Amino acid sequence: MLHKAPDHLPETRALLLDLSGVLYVGNAPLPGAVEALRRAREAGVPVRLVTNTTREPRVAIVDKLARLGFGVDPGELTTAPSAIRARLEAEARHPLLLVHPDLEPEFAGLASDEPDVVVMGDMGRAFDYAVLNRAFRVLMEGAPLWVMGTNRYFREPDGLSLDIGPFVRALEYAADIRAENFGKPDPRLFHAAVADLDLPPDQVLMVGDDVAGDVDGARAAGLGACLVRSGKYRKGDEQRAEHPGSGLADSLADIIDALLDKRGGNHSGSG
Ligand SMILES: [Mg+2]
Repeated sequence: MLHKAPDHLPETRALLLDLSGVLYVGNAPLPGAVEALRRAREAGVPVRLVTNTTREPRVAIVDKLARLGFGVDPGELTTAPSAIRARLEAEARHPLLLVHPDLEPEFAGLASDEPDVVVMGDMGRAFDYAVLNRAFRVLMEGAPLWVMGTNRYFREPDGLSLDIGPFVRALEYAADIRAENFGKPDPRLFHAAVADLDLPPDQVLMVGDDVAGDVDGARAAGLGACLVRSGKYRKGDEQRAEHPGSGLADSLADIIDALLDKRGGNHSGSG
């Protein structure tokens, strides 16, 4: 059930969805999520997806979604690595890449000699002292730190796991700098994700399991937002929201039910 409808639910005409914790956890779809997304599409509700997941390239994420039963067009998915790649090319930068080995193809073809920027994703188990210290030394030479997120943790099948944020903070602290975040909650990523919808931002409802990255980030970008009590959600998370007007629901399925009911309740027919 929807515990608290977001202020923007009545005007919602499109959905922007986080992936991990909203559609799936690990390699298992969340209960009702596949069916809910299908119902939304059948009702003509445009859907876009945005993720700070940086352990896989975009094509692998789209393949995974298909495997789990979520039919997604690559053009519907916006990721932080694609935003960083575009900026690296625009500024002809030489990045020192701290990214998961699986993500390296996304940055193929960029010069990496004499690095003038440190680019950081979630390396998972590949984070170690030598890697972080190499980045630290480049930062101390004056290079900026561009990161794909600042999330603290996420939910894996066996429990909560450290995300990129703690490692970003370690480098910021050591080098006494501030990273530039290209992932959620950066408003530019939300705006890029919904740009092709041609809708006012407040008619798009962001659904996520991260209060800071998804809910507050979307509200700051002018979108509606609803926190789901799936994925990494922990009791009381909703009280940490800084922006008013966001909703709280048990699952994506509940939000889509409520949304389709508001739209007139004829979502089961073909009309
Ligand atoms: Mg999530």
